[in-house]
Amino acid sequence: MLGCGEEVVAVHDGGDLLQDLGVDPADLDPAPARPVPECVYTGRLVARYPCVRCGDPATVAAIAETPLGRRWVDRCMPCLVATTPRGGPPGPLEDTMAVLREAAATVGVALTVVTDEA
Ligand SMILES: [Zn+2]
Repeated sequence: MLGCGEEVVAVHDGGDLLQDLGVDPADLDPAPARPVPECVYTGRLVARYPCVRCGDPATVAAIAETPLGRRWVDRCMPCLVATTPRGGPPGPLEDTMAVLREAAATVGVALTVVTDEA
């Protein structure tokens, strides 16, 4: 159980997040200074604020550091998934295949990979 003084809400660099969301920080509610107690975060979720991207009831609340200060960023799950970075672009398929072949050779198993690549 988290204490009331612990930060439980994700704090993002607002520049990239708000750009991905297409949101102006001036349109977002001011968020409290840290640490944000668990009860404040839970209260934000229970209130079901509208998703800043699509307007559906939000299921996730986060805070963005913006030039205007900390702002709440409420998102529904589909918008959270759509705006969550997943790392850099994938490497070439040949690199992935080389790693798989090496791993298979290490453990001594035959490897057959079927892809839709021509
Ligand atoms: Zn949404």
